[in-house]
This record gives sequence, C-alpha cells and structure tokens, in this order.
Amino acid sequence: MSKFYVTTPIYYINGEPHIGSAYPTLAADVLARYHRLKGDEVMFLTGSDEHGAKMAETAEKAGKTPQEFCDEMAAKFMECWDELDISNDDFIRTTSDRHKAGVIKFIEKLKENDAVYEGEYEGLYCQGCEAFLTERDLVNGECPIHRVKPQMISEKNYFFNLKKYLPEVKRMIDVDEIRILPESKKNEVLGLFKQDIGDFSISRSSVKWGIPLPWDESQVAYVWVDALTNYINALGYGSDDITKLEKFWPADVHILGKDILKFHCIYWPAMLIAAGLLTPKNLYVHGFFTVDGQKMGKSLGNVIDPFNLIKEFGADATRYLLLSQFPFGQDGDIKAAQFAIQYNSDLANGIGNFASRVTSMAEKYFEGVVPARDSELKNEVEKIWSEYEDSLEGFQVDQAIEAVKKLNQLGDGYVEKNKPWELAKTDVKRLAGVIYNLLELLRHLGVALWPIMPETSEKILRALGQDDFRQKDFVTLKVWGLLEPESKTNKNEPLFPRIQ
Ligand SMILES: [Zn+2]
Repeated sequence: MSKFYVTTPIYYINGEPHIGSAYPTLAADVLARYHRLKGDEVMFLTGSDEHGAKMAETAEKAGKTPQEFCDEMAAKFMECWDELDISNDDFIRTTSDRHKAGVIKFIEKLKENDAVYEGEYEGLYCQGCEAFLTERDLVNGECPIHRVKPQMISEKNYFFNLKKYLPEVKRMIDVDEIRILPESKKNEVLGLFKQDIGDFSISRSSVKWGIPLPWDESQVAYVWVDALTNYINALGYGSDDITKLEKFWPADVHILGKDILKFHCIYWPAMLIAAGLLTPKNLYVHGFFTVDGQKMGKSLGNVIDPFNLIKEFGADATRYLLLSQFPFGQDGDIKAAQFAIQYNSDLANGIGNFASRVTSMAEKYFEGVVPARDSELKNEVEKIWSEYEDSLEGFQVDQAIEAVKKLNQLGDGYVEKNKPWELAKTDVKRLAGVIYNLLELLRHLGVALWPIMPETSEKILRALGQDDFRQKDFVTLKVWGLLEPESKTNKNEPLFPRIQ
C-alpha cells in the first residue's frame, strides 16, 4: 500500500475564511480523496497560522486577547471546511502545545547542527508579509503585495545560515528531487538563486505574540520558521510518538500560493536539510485569481464568502464552481457573476440531467432491472479514465473535472444518437444494450466524481445499488461491466435543481 501526504498552507486567520483559502483546500481535498479511492493510505493536513505581530494587532482591534481571537477564527475555518466536505485528517493550530513542542525541537536541532548564529539585523520590515524585504522587492518604495512602505527595523536576531545550504537545495530542484510544479514556477524559483539570497533571521525581539526561543526567551521564533514546521509537527515531530512522521514524511505534495513560494521552495527545504530531515517530494504552486475581472478585496466589496456559496448552490456545486474556473497552477479569473449560469449548464442540465434521465429510462423500460451486459462504450470510457488519472497524478484538478465532463458528454451524445424512446417501439434487444451502456457509464461517472463532488457521487452510486463502492479497489471499480445484470436500480432524485 502506498502512502500519500498532502498539505495546504496553514491559513493566517486574521480574517474570515474566503475563497482564497477555500480554493487550495478544495484542490488538496480532491487529491486526498483520489488517493483514498486508489487505496493509498492518506494523510491530509490543513490548519491555521496564528502567531505574529499582525495577529496581535487584529485581535486588539477586535477587543480580544490574541488567543481568544484565534480560537474563534480557527473554529470558523473548521466549520467552513466541514460544510465544504473537506476530508482533512488533521487540523493543526500553531498555538497548540504539540505544534510549539515541534517548533522548539526544530530550532534546537538547527542550533545543535551549527545552522544558527547570532547577529544584528537592520532591514525593511513589512508587517503584512511578516518579512524583511530587500530594496529589490519594493515597487515605488512600497511592498508590492500590501502597498505600504516597510519600516526600518534594527534588532538583535538569531540567523539561519541559509547560504550554506543553498547549493544543495538548488541542485535538488534542478534534478527534480524537490519537484516544483508547474514548470514555470520551478523556473521562477531557479531564477531566485541568481539573486542574492541572504541568510534570514529566525527570531524576533520586537514581536511578543509567538513561541519564545528555548535558549533566549527575549526572542520569539520568526513566524515563517514557526509556520512551516507545522507540516512535520502534525505528524508528531517533537513528541514521543513519531509513528506518523516515519510513515508519512516526506510530504508527497505541499499545495501553496505563489506569494509564499520562496519560503516553501527555498527556506523550508534548506531548514529541513539543516535539521537532518528529508525534503518534500513535490511543491505545487497555484496562481492568484481575480473575481469578475477585479482583484478581490474588502475595499472592493467583492470578497466571496464560501458560506454564502454553499447556501446558494450546496457544497458539491460550490466545490465544482470554484475548481472548474481556470487551470490549477495558473492565474485566472473567477466568474462569480456567471455561477448560476454555469451551475445550470454543467450541473442541472449536465450531470444532474444525465443521471436522472438514465435511471428514469431504466425504470420506464426495464422496471429498474439492469439488462444484459454490453460493452459498446468500454474503449472510450477507458481512454477517459486514463486522462483522469494522468491529470490527478500530475495534480491537475481542473483537468480531472474536464475528464468527468467528457464522460457526461459521451453519455449525452450516446442517448441522442440511439434515441432509446424510438428503440422502445422498434428494437427492444438493442434498447437493452443501450440502457446497459448508459447505466454502466453512469456508474463510472459516479466513481470519477467522488473526489470532486462526494455527495453527488454517493447519490448516483446508491441509485445504481453500488452503496459499497468504497469497499472495492480502484482497479475493480474502473473495469467496464461491473454493474451486474438483473441487479436493481432506482430513480435518481434530482441532483441539481435548476436555479432561475
Ligand atoms: Zn507586504
């Protein structure tokens, strides 16, 4: 049995969950579910990043202690993931004891291995980024992400000897021992090595809301050092029980946004090497998106609340609408104004209509009893399965959705071509073959849908008497003809009622 460890970034919870965090979480969920379907032992981790000056400031504005504020926000994120049917195995919070224990052990290990030294740091600090910026990072003297002038800060810090590990990190990225995807992002990271990447400080004396260094309590761990270690701490790093760490580390894929590329693709592998740990196998970098052509932001009033989407469209359709907008890994635009139209065309008139049409015809012509096997659609379905699998093995979630759409289109085209309502009058034997092919195609569609729209998948498969599909292995599920002749099917309840 293979193992599969997938992570999302831990989200900085100084605001309510929005689709910026829902999007990568959904993508990771699709990958986790796909690997569960394949029978892999899966660990899917998400969580919340709760330390740093900015968090303390936001809490104070809300009239709360940082911990109270974090508790409330973390609960909201968990609720949101729950409503979206996110199947994470764990949720790690950086204010938890297990995380703190891991951070302390990690930093001690870095010091023990001579990767840390004391120094004076003076630099331009952006509070929004929680990072020192170089002149080169600035646009018109401002942080390009937060559009504010960074402050000049000088303090005693402990530094991580990044330079010592850079050649090894670069070598590993070059030869894909650390694979960065998509390819364009790998090139971007390799480009960073050509610039002057300095050592970075792993502690702050100016910040109070954080994890104190074990050997100098006047300093707290730099938020990035603190945050990145969540990926091993959730597996028990720093605790007495490292069973999970031994089983699941290194991560098969970290999903991350392009704004945190340098931290994940350079700092994190370097620190892991310094601490004597293995580096992640894949880092998948997703892009930024606009909403209806505009940058999403509170001031523009176009922040999309996932809770509202779920209320309007349901969890499955929300998953579908968010993930199907543009290729995963690229920048794109979320056409929120078109959601209802897309819902009707792809889901109500598409998958939903096909499922109810096929099960209704089986009911009408054969009283819901599956006719004798036929294999007219076998080859085409096998071809789509291989596209589907290739997509998900390469983390291309949107392409897997395309494959599912192809199954749907194959079915719709087959109905139109064969006109079962006419065969019912002229050729019942042929009708039986056609209905078998349609029911079996619907079964394949149901299985392929499980990672993407789990509830819809289960409804379809239940109607086909396949309630036990999760007990079957993936190879069996993909074989054409699993649907037993003489078995009983039921009419599908409407899966996606049309929206006016
Ligand atoms: Zn910034």
